[in-house]
Amino acid sequence: MSGLQIVLKHCTLTTPVAIVHGGAGTWKAAPIEVWEVLDKAVMIGVENSSKSALEGAVLSVEKLEDTCLLNAGRGSVLDYYGNISMDAGLMDGVSRKYGAVANVHYPLHPIRLAYIIMNQTAHNFLAGMEADLFASQLGLTRHPGPCENRINQWVESRSKPLRPHLEANRKWLESDTVGGIVSDGNLVAVGVSTGGISLKMPGRVGDSPLIGGGFYSTGKVGVIATGIGELISRYLLSYRLALAFEEGGYSAVSKVFNEFTDKYGYGTAGFILGSNKGDVITGYNTEFMPWKACDKERCIGNYVKS
Ligand code: ASP
Repeated sequence: MSGLQIVLKHCTLTTPVAIVHGGAGTWKAAPIEVWEVLDKAVMIGVENSSKSALEGAVLSVEKLEDTCLLNAGRGSVLDYYGNISMDAGLMDGVSRKYGAVANVHYPLHPIRLAYIIMNQTAHNFLAGMEADLFASQLGLTRHPGPCENRINQWVESRSKPLRPHLEANRKWLESDTVGGIVSDGNLVAVGVSTGGISLKMPGRVGDSPLIGGGFYSTGKVGVIATGIGELISRYLLSYRLALAFEEGGYSAVSKVFNEFTDKYGYGTAGFILGSNKGDVITGYNTEFMPWKACDKERCIGNYVKS
């Protein structure tokens, strides 16, 4: 893709800190309604960090899952046949425990299901109809079905000559996955949730529920990635960025993201990173990725209204 560049930003806030993003999708700027959702989600993360960083991250991602404007939970994009399937993952970097779900249809909040799997079962990761069954047995809120805007997008893209194959359809892909990081000064918790990539093959799972791909936390630093899941998971982008930060700070992170972009091209990924010292690093090689980070006193972000 031409005309794109890598946009990186590093700043430091005072813990507790929350960071959220609305996906490194195809947009050039985000509508005001998206910024309002990000504002609410990031504040939920800061306010609930006193319960636990993990609870803060989960509540903040749940807020992002509640809107038709972002590609997660309620607003999930549709697959080739017009159905929703969602992935989510989260990690608490101190215990190194994680929870994940893939290819689920039932829960409105897949991040909550991932959280319960992590905390109340002997497992890390559940997928497909058994994960859905578990969500319904738990009494989690059921997904009400696709949003109208997603149905309209699907109808429009299906009117073009497409094959049910990701590479062939790449130029129509929409992907505005969400993620939240909360650092309470001791630990860094990360959570990610997505409807995947529009027009995907049924059963396709991207990077979001894959540890090291879509998310990773070492306890000192947590990372969430967004973009083309096939590439992100191949490269273990979140894991590599987290390790790079521990070894060489911002410049090492920048080097890894440049290497990823050299390898896979522009228009492929974005990420947010938070450390237990309050560092916030964000980056994308797409047109745009709306993000916002706050501590108790102030907020920063890349506010551009469309
Ligand atoms: N990474 C997600 C996936 O490939 C999509 C996104 O980030 O928007 O499933």
